[in-house]
Amino acid sequence: MPKFLDAIAGFGVTFSTMFKKRVTEEYPEKPGPTALRYHGRHQLNRYADGLEKCIGCELCAWACPADAIFVEGADNTEAERFSPGERYGRVYQINYLRCIGCGLCIEACPTRALTMTNDYEMADDNRSDLIYGKDKLLAPLLADMTAPPHAMAEGSTDEDYYRGNITATGLGIPKVPAR
Ligand code: SF4
Ligand code: SF4
Repeated sequence: MPKFLDAIAGFGVTFSTMFKKRVTEEYPEKPGPTALRYHGRHQLNRYADGLEKCIGCELCAWACPADAIFVEGADNTEAERFSPGERYGRVYQINYLRCIGCGLCIEACPTRALTMTNDYEMADDNRSDLIYGKDKLLAPLLADMTAPPHAMAEGSTDEDYYRGNITATGLGIPKVPAR
């Protein structure tokens, strides 16, 4: 085939594509929905009264194949309690330069403190801003929650928390199962 026909053939592809339905997304103006179970940014969850679910056990860090999680636990005291039971996660960091989104950490968590959201907008231009601490990972306080430190619900034990028997107002069976 003569060489000049190559160019015409190339434009043929361009012209035929111009009239097809667009498949591109209008990102970032209109970000599209993710799959429901998309593995995005992690979240450290709270109980209904605001106490943190993380007990600083480090199981998530040990499960992580990319060594992306750093946890430093500390003791709760009666004067300063952040979670039910003995320990809480004083320092909690996830390095998103290492994380591969595999989800093994959330499988390892014994209290369902750690889950993953659908948030994927985490790009940045420097290392330190991609190491997320508790300030970015902790679930927001809902209207009926109280910011820790505070005491456990009156008359409750840590087991009541683990069994999902805590509401925003105290010991009781929540209408909606604990997250
Ligand atoms: S999702 Fe996977 S790689 Fe990322 S922190 Fe969890 S275990 Fe590590
Ligand atoms: S997030 Fe879960 S597994 Fe990780 S330290 Fe906290 S309680 Fe343990």
